[in-house]
Amino acid sequence: MNIMGSEQKEPYKVFLVGGRRFLIYLEYDEQLNESYPAYPDFESSPEYTSEGQPFATAEQESCPHCKPSAPGKPPPDDCGGCNWFYREQTPYDPIGICVCEARQKEKSKHNKSESEE
Ligand code: SF4
Repeated sequence: MNIMGSEQKEPYKVFLVGGRRFLIYLEYDEQLNESYPAYPDFESSPEYTSEGQPFATAEQESCPHCKPSAPGKPPPDDCGGCNWFYREQTPYDPIGICVCEARQKEKSKHNKSESEE
């Protein structure tokens, strides 16, 4: 029997973060001739927890609010190395939550100006 949607490919991995479920699929790069996991692009399509904290990926480029993982260390290049990046399951989770208060304030400012439009 042919069930509709049965040809849909299986996710490479499923991550549970902040009460959300993220299905990650493998994509093929013809130039590199290899597959890679395609994580969400939260920079171009921001998503938030119900508490208004932004989701982030470990590989996401760090923002101006980034905080070194320890005093005296250089600022991180990506969210994965930032002290505001909270991983729920393991120290290697590729998807986490940015718990930086400054970024949450930015979001509420943004929402406010949107509702004023
Ligand atoms: S403050 Fe948040 S968005 Fe900025 S680098 Fe750190 S984890 Fe990423």
